Amino acid sequence: MANGKIGVTTENIFPVIKKFLYSDNEIFLRELVSNAVDATRKIQTLTSFGDFKGELGNLKVSVSIDKEAGTLTVSDHGIGMDASDIEKYINQIAFSGAEEFLEKYKDTANSIIGHFGLGFYSAFMVAKKVIIRSLSYKDGAQAVEWICDGSPEFEMHPIEKSERGTDIILYIDDEFKEYLEKDRIIGLLKKYCRFLPVPVVCGKKEEWKDGKYIETEEDFVVNSTEPLWTRKPSELTDEDYLKFYRDLMPGREDPLFWIHLNVDYPFTLTGILYFPKVKSNIDLQRNRIQLYSNQVYVTDQVEGVVPEFMTIMQGVIDSPDIPLNVSRSYLQADRQVKKISSYISKKVAEKLEKLFTSNRAEFEKKWDDIKIFIQYGMLTDEKFYESARKFYLLRNTKGKYFSLEEYKTLVEATQTDKDSTLIYLYTTDPTAQYSYISQAEEKGYDVLVMDGELDEHFMSMLESKDQKLRFVRVDSDIPERLIAKEENKATNLSPVDADLLQGLFSDRLPADDKTQFIVALEALDSTSAPATVTQNEFMRRMKKMAEQQPGMAFAAQMPDSYQLVVNTNQPAVKKLLEAASSAIGNKLGEILSRINAINEEISKERESNTDDDKKKLLEEKENEVAELRKQQNTLISDYAKNRPEIRQIIDLALLQTGLLKGRELSEFISRSISLL
Ligand code: ADP
Repeated sequence: MANGKIGVTTENIFPVIKKFLYSDNEIFLRELVSNAVDATRKIQTLTSFGDFKGELGNLKVSVSIDKEAGTLTVSDHGIGMDASDIEKYINQIAFSGAEEFLEKYKDTANSIIGHFGLGFYSAFMVAKKVIIRSLSYKDGAQAVEWICDGSPEFEMHPIEKSERGTDIILYIDDEFKEYLEKDRIIGLLKKYCRFLPVPVVCGKKEEWKDGKYIETEEDFVVNSTEPLWTRKPSELTDEDYLKFYRDLMPGREDPLFWIHLNVDYPFTLTGILYFPKVKSNIDLQRNRIQLYSNQVYVTDQVEGVVPEFMTIMQGVIDSPDIPLNVSRSYLQADRQVKKISSYISKKVAEKLEKLFTSNRAEFEKKWDDIKIFIQYGMLTDEKFYESARKFYLLRNTKGKYFSLEEYKTLVEATQTDKDSTLIYLYTTDPTAQYSYISQAEEKGYDVLVMDGELDEHFMSMLESKDQKLRFVRVDSDIPERLIAKEENKATNLSPVDADLLQGLFSDRLPADDKTQFIVALEALDSTSAPATVTQNEFMRRMKKMAEQQPGMAFAAQMPDSYQLVVNTNQPAVKKLLEAASSAIGNKLGEILSRINAINEEISKERESNTDDDKKKLLEEKENEVAELRKQQNTLISDYAKNRPEIRQIIDLALLQTGLLKGRELSEFISRSISLL
């Protein structure tokens, strides 16, 4: 019998372990089972090299509970340990300044355990006493028992043990009685040990018989020892991949497709990543990729290991190059991990490109489901952007898909404006913007559908990458001006007529503090609409962006500003102007020439030096102008009031944009009836 002190420099390492690792204490089971699995694999390796010639026997790892004794035992039939192994591996923890270290890193306790080979000692997080009973595989080995009650003192003595391997017996603390519950233990084994390469057994399989569950003779194996990602892709069918997915992510819709990762240089990595169907932001839940290290579950917080945009994928990644106990900050900082991340990004892009080139029809079918994912990737990952440019698809209003290159070729000839900027027209709502779309299409233009959640950002990005490309929403201007081919034609109206027409329409605009209108006169085709409402692309985007900025919520309160473009060539408009001109044209002309005359005087006076007297004179003149303006407005307003067709023209334009609602809509209807 040997007693001794465990080689930890500080006296009270165990209380420290307990205290700081408290929150994560369930991982003790992962540590012990992984040790058991390692020991099992070692004996398999020794056998395969001919260094061990004995019977391997049943190599399962068992986890068993004895509620009465208050123990949880992890047993294996691995290589075992003799007294000198225990001395070397268990007693001598190369660990200095443990307490100080733990104090400093208490928040990342999880990472310390693995780092300092404290795996086995994590048992003391939940146990008041731990016993190791082990028989080494070595010829003529003497079985030993090691007992430690959580103080740095231990006891070791020879025992009788006939079976090779190790039992780790934990006397569970009263505080942690939960670890004596079978359901809890099975839950943990399922979480951490589900894909370990050696069968892990916990109790017997149960069977439903005579209205209750009864134990059978058969072991209950918790894990599947050959998970799909460890197998050769060439041996696997689609059904295999789908089945694995359904096991991994129960209750989800089947994935769109998957990628089997397999690399052994410059790091080792295997895994399967599935593309889920993503319909909206709500679906963008993370933590669906599980990270394994040699089939031992590590974490589902994979930030850093896969590029951020890929965290919406689901599946598993297994890399022994990632240490078992990793902290998040570690994952984000480690260079090796960064390499893994860019490798995965590259692989995913390659897979998508292959799908695009080899089966375009299938790719198009899946496009709407993966579009948001790809956009997110292109927006956040420059390298991915570069590869994804090749297979990114644009969809037009006719439901046809084009790659970026194809689309450019399609519209280049018709949609390049006078400054040789390529204009891509788009709609955010094909139903609401229907008439604008058909007008644009009549002009021979193509219109893209951009109704996705990231489309706005995506278009801005494409524009920023290509100075000669601009996206313009179909309703942001009259069709003639959506793509400016030549300088605008000026209206051929006299200044008085222009003022009159402008005044008539301005006077009859709907009064609403949420929307603001500016009247513009334009000499368009006589067959085009008398008036059209447009919303400037630039203004609309500015407002939208402002609304999305934190702290800029007030931007949403700002009125939307629209343009009412009046077509001075349209017969109804012409008729209206003629009638108005003969009724009030002369009077208006007089007022306007008065205004002009006074304004001229004012500007002359301004040029010469101003003394106080002059200032007063100027003020008087300005007041006079204001007075005349008022007269002008009243004159126009009084006339406009009795011309229902003005509002009719405006309402028709509003109706086309979907801006005519409520009371105004019903007024429009009754007016239409009376005009009939
Ligand atoms: P780590 O596993 O990180 O090396 P541990 O503290 O968990 O650290 O274990 C220390 C060593 O003790 C192991 O490397 C192994 O040599 C030995 N050991 C632990 N558990 C077993 C076991 N069940 N069978 C054989 N050896 C074991």
